[in-house]
Amino acid sequence: MKVIAISNQKGGVAKTTTCLNLAAYFARKYKVLIIDCDKQANLSKNIGVEEPKTTINDLFQKKPFEVINVRKNLDLIPSSIDFAGIDLVIQGELARETILKKAIKKLGSAYDFIFLDCPPDMNLVTVNALTAADYVIIPVQASQFSMDGVDIMIQFIGGVRESLNEDLSLLGILITHFDERLRISKSIEQDFKDNEWEDALFKTRIRRNTAIENSQHKDNRMTIFEYQKNSPGAVDYAKLGNEIARKIKKYSETWD
Ligand code: ADP
Ligand code: MG
Repeated sequence: MKVIAISNQKGGVAKTTTCLNLAAYFARKYKVLIIDCDKQANLSKNIGVEEPKTTINDLFQKKPFEVINVRKNLDLIPSSIDFAGIDLVIQGELARETILKKAIKKLGSAYDFIFLDCPPDMNLVTVNALTAADYVIIPVQASQFSMDGVDIMIQFIGGVRESLNEDLSLLGILITHFDERLRISKSIEQDFKDNEWEDALFKTRIRRNTAIENSQHKDNRMTIFEYQKNSPGAVDYAKLGNEIARKIKKYSETWD
């Protein structure tokens, strides 16, 4: 079982989009669980789950919770706005950083992959996600990219690795909303080279593509593969899925 967190403290960088479509891609071959860790619950809504009976809020409060089957091979622990106050609720607890990790352990070996959609914060929920994860993916939006933002994330990951989860690896930095006509999109790669972060960049970039937005529209609520399987968005996310599978295999020659 591999646990992959999709995290960036910035909103709108395509964390949720990446989490959902990667999970859908891996569900073609593997048993996959998505855990929506964002109180905004965009991922839950995007896959068609509104007003679930129980949510990640129950998981964090150690109450019984349901795992919802949303597609073939694809399960979800949804979120809802109730999750907004969780930081205060767990703040005083011992082992407040390992709640999610323990819950995932209990789910056992039912899954090959678990994807965690993180909130746009560096709060206790994000710490829980990074503590539970084997790998983290940082999506960055091409047009509002800043090396400083990436630095902050990488330092934060380093902090979690040092104090809570020495097994956490940066799987890669993913450029999203890519538009090759824009100069800014091109200069990002140079920025990475200049900062010697080149190796961390995924070769696959996710191009800006309206099919992605439309797939998430309230009348559709689909993965990009269901909505338009030949769209640039579907092509890019499939390519990314392949690149990730190769990277993970390299990391762990023994596939557990
Ligand atoms: P985050 O979870 O980081 O806040 P989202 O995944 O919700 O980001 O994406 C933010 C917005 O950008 C959404 O409206 C989504 O539909 C849109 N979006 C994401 N990726 C793309 C893309 N490659 N092309 C066009 N729109 C995109
Ligand atoms: Mg999101």
